[in-house]
Amino acid sequence: MNLDNLFQSWEKQLSILDGDDLLRLLPEIESVATGKIKMNGKEIIQLASNNYLGLNIETTVVAAGQRALSEYGTGASGSRLLSGNLNLYQKLEDQISGLKQTEATLVFSTGYQANLGLISTLCQPGDVILSDALNHASIIDGCRLSKANRQIYRHCDLGHLSHQLSETTSSNRRWIITDGVFSMDGDIAPLPEILELAHQWNAYVIVDDAHGFGVLGPDGGGVTSHFGLEDDRIIHVGTLSKAVAGLGGYVSGKRIMIDLLINRCRTFIFTTGLPPSVIAAATEAIELIMTQPGRRQRLLDHADYLRVQLRQLGFSVPFGETQILPVIVGNSFQTKQLANQLLELGVFAPAIRPPTVPPNTARLRLCPIATHTQNEIQSVVKAFATCLEK
Ligand SMILES: *Cc1c(COP(=O)(O)O)cnc(C)c1O
Repeated sequence: MNLDNLFQSWEKQLSILDGDDLLRLLPEIESVATGKIKMNGKEIIQLASNNYLGLNIETTVVAAGQRALSEYGTGASGSRLLSGNLNLYQKLEDQISGLKQTEATLVFSTGYQANLGLISTLCQPGDVILSDALNHASIIDGCRLSKANRQIYRHCDLGHLSHQLSETTSSNRRWIITDGVFSMDGDIAPLPEILELAHQWNAYVIVDDAHGFGVLGPDGGGVTSHFGLEDDRIIHVGTLSKAVAGLGGYVSGKRIMIDLLINRCRTFIFTTGLPPSVIAAATEAIELIMTQPGRRQRLLDHADYLRVQLRQLGFSVPFGETQILPVIVGNSFQTKQLANQLLELGVFAPAIRPPTVPPNTARLRLCPIATHTQNEIQSVVKAFATCLEK
């Protein structure tokens, strides 16, 4: 194929996406303030951020990052196994182990890499992975990278999971993998029941708590803390890029597993460690998560208020108990239109379309921030009401 053909084939792929209202463009954010962003010179209420607690611009978090920047410089300079293992990691990993009530934690450069590396290291040929149908893309890619067999069970369907467990008894090990809080639906995995099945069938459970960590549970420890679960069968994975407002991923569990990952996990070994400022800022952010439960409460109160109000207006918002509210529209074109109208009215809630969500379930995914004012949340409801009139 000559070069022109190659470029034309890419153009064709993109024009098909555009024809299906699935073409994606990068929105440009000009500045960030408490609960707001600036786009095209206009202040807009941010309703699409994973920075759930507003810790990204919190004074002490920023100051901790600045101090580390001055002391250690900009970059880590190497893989953690060579020159990148700054002593700043120790406190961060201990904090996470404390919140997860585990023996040890290993911080990765992103949550995506943590899932890829964890799953491909632990799940071996002859094993079976049982994976929830709505698991995050990084879990799906981790499963693909591993040489274990993979079965998908229907979303949160314990009967289906139990059936698959009963049919795979001849395999070596069984790994159940699930999001703790599902990223596009905001529902919580039935973890106590999944754990019971794991005990019954001698399986292990990997929980990706990207959206629960810092938000759920009395101490912000996430989905296991929410359910009061502590069990050696659970392997915790998560991110520092959401409630913790920085960057990085973590795996938490038995010390022996962490030692194995340090020696075997390719996405840990063959990448550069985090910049010092990122490690120090995350450590301070987690400190605030542990000491300021009021932030979590405000966030969940905002989400509850929005859920009730938008349901009353007639929008299709499922019941829920987390900070993530899907407003299901269905059709990609209409979802894009609603998102554009909201943007005109000063609310940033971009359309989420397939393949991020299943076909015909295009939606807006609303996430309030703990630092939004009640006024801001009310003006979001007003904007939705205005869209209905149009
Ligand atoms: C965001 C997310 C990740 C990836 O985390 P990053 O640190 O942003 O790479 C992994 N799993 C889930 C469920 C997520 O929502």
